[in-house]
Amino acid sequence: MSEVQLLPRVREFLAGPLGSFVDGQYQVEPEAQAFEVVNPSDAEVIARVAEASEALIQRAVAAAHASFHGSWGATSPYARGVALNRLADLIEANSEELAQLESVSSGKSIHLSRHLELAQSVVFLRYFAGWATKINGETMTPSLPSMHGEQYTAFTRREAVGVVAGITPWNFSLMIGVWKIASALTCGCTIVIKPSEFTPLSLLRVAELAVQAGIPAGTLNVVNGRGRVGQQLIDHPQVRKVSFTGSVPTGVAVGKAAMNANLTRVTLELGGKNPAALLADIDVEAAVEGILPATFTHQGQICAAPERLYVHRSKLQAVCDALKARLTGLRAGNALDESAQFGPLANKTHYEKILGCFSTAQARQQVLCGARALPGPGYFVEPTLLLAQGADDPFLKDEHFGPILCILPFDDDEELVRLMNDSPFGLGASLWTNDLSKALRLIPRIEAGTLWVNMHTFLDPAVPFGGMKGSGVGREFGSAFIEDYTELKSVMIRF
Ligand code: NAD
Repeated sequence: MSEVQLLPRVREFLAGPLGSFVDGQYQVEPEAQAFEVVNPSDAEVIARVAEASEALIQRAVAAAHASFHGSWGATSPYARGVALNRLADLIEANSEELAQLESVSSGKSIHLSRHLELAQSVVFLRYFAGWATKINGETMTPSLPSMHGEQYTAFTRREAVGVVAGITPWNFSLMIGVWKIASALTCGCTIVIKPSEFTPLSLLRVAELAVQAGIPAGTLNVVNGRGRVGQQLIDHPQVRKVSFTGSVPTGVAVGKAAMNANLTRVTLELGGKNPAALLADIDVEAAVEGILPATFTHQGQICAAPERLYVHRSKLQAVCDALKARLTGLRAGNALDESAQFGPLANKTHYEKILGCFSTAQARQQVLCGARALPGPGYFVEPTLLLAQGADDPFLKDEHFGPILCILPFDDDEELVRLMNDSPFGLGASLWTNDLSKALRLIPRIEAGTLWVNMHTFLDPAVPFGGMKGSGVGREFGSAFIEDYTELKSVMIRF
C-alpha cells in the first residue's frame, strides 16, 4: 500500500473556515448553518462548510449581474480566451492540491482525480477558450418587395444570455463545474455555481484561481449548500439560464422551477440506463478489456457508464466467465492509496442505496459475482455482475449509478434494437463489433445522445454530449454549447 500524504496546503484548506466564494472573495457567514464533508474512504468528517444564506445568494447573483453588465461584459472575446487559458494554466499548476481535495471528498481514486478529472478539466478549458473568438452570427438577404428602390439586409448576432446558475453533482465535481464555467465565460456570460453538498471544496479553489487569472471579481461565484440554495438561484429574476447536471427526478424539478421562474433557459444533463451490446463477432477478451473500465471506473458512478449489457447468446458464457475472472479479487482501498484497484462509493446515502440493490439481487438469486459490502469504516462494496431475469428485470430499468452490471443475452439484431431502446432514458450506448457495415446500419436505430463503437464512456470537448428522451435537454461541448449560452438576435435593415 502506498498512500499519498495530503499536502500541507490541503490540510490548511480543510481546516477552514469554509463557505462560499462571492465577488472575488471567500465568504463565511458567522450565523450560517454549517454542513459536514465526509471522506468516503473512512467515514471521517474532513471539513465543515457554511451554507449560503438567501442574502449571500442575492449578493452572488448581484455580483454576477454587475460583472455581466460591467467588466466581463466589456472584455473582448480575445481577452476572454486569454483569461480562460490562464485559468487552465493555474489549474494545471495546482492540480495535485485540487486532485487531493476531490479524492478526499468524493472517494475518487487519486489516479482518476489526477489523470482524468484535473487533466481533462485543463483540456476542456483550453478547448472552450479557443471558441471565444469564433462565436458569430450570419448574414441574410431578405426577399421583401422593393417598391421604391429600397434594399434590405439582415444579420444575426449571438449575444450572451446573462447570469447563469450552474448546479452540479458529486461524481466529477470539479470537471463538470469547469464545463459549465468554461461554457458560460467563453460566451460572455457570468456564473453562480452551486456544487453538490457532498463535494463543495474544489470549485472554491477554482474560483480563487480565476481571480488570480485576471477574471474580474463577480464573474465566477460559488455558493455552497443543499438543494435549497439551488432552488433559490433558479428562482432569482436576474438568472437567465440554468445549467444543471444531476439525477432525473431533481432535473425534472429544476426544469419545472426554471419554466415557472420566467421561462428561464435550461440545460439538463441527467442520468441514464446506458446499454452496451456485444455482437456475435466480438473478440471476447478485447471486448471485456473495454467494458470493464467503462463500467467500473469510479465505482460505476459515471452518468454514461453501461449498466445494461446485452450479449449475443453465442458469447454469453465466455463473456460472463471473462468478466467474473477479472472482477474477482480486485483490491479495494482508500482513494489516496495509489495501489488500490477499487475505491469506496461517494457517500453514505448512496452506499445504503447500493446495499439495498444487493439485497434485492440476492433474494432474486441473480448474482454472478460481488453484491456484498466490504469491511468499513468507509463505504466499500464489491463490483457486481447480475444475470437479468428477462427483458423486464428491474435491474435493467432503474439507474443505480454504482458498480452493478446486469447482463441479458439476445439472439438477433431486431431483438437487440428493441432491448436497447426499451428505456425512458437515452444518454449513452455502445456497440462492440468488427462488422462495420452492421454497426453503421444499427447506429441510426439506437436512441442515445452518444453512441460509441468499440469504446464506451469516453468524452471529448470537440464531440457534443447530452441526452435523448428522459436523459436531458440540450448539448454540451463541440460548438453545440454556444446555442445554449447565447440568445440569437435578428437585425433587419432597410437602406
Ligand atoms: P442530484 O440530482 O441529487 O443533485 C444534483 C445537484 O442538484 C446537487 O448540487 C444538489 O444539491 C442539487 N439539488 C438538489 N435538489 C435541488 C432542487 N430542488 N433545486 C435545485 N438544485 C437541487 O444528483 P447527484 O446524486 O448529485 O448526482 C448523481 C446523478 O447525476 C446521477 O443520476 C447521474 O447520472 C447524474 N449525472 C449526469 C451527468 C450528465 O452529464 N448527464 C453527469 C454526471 C452525473
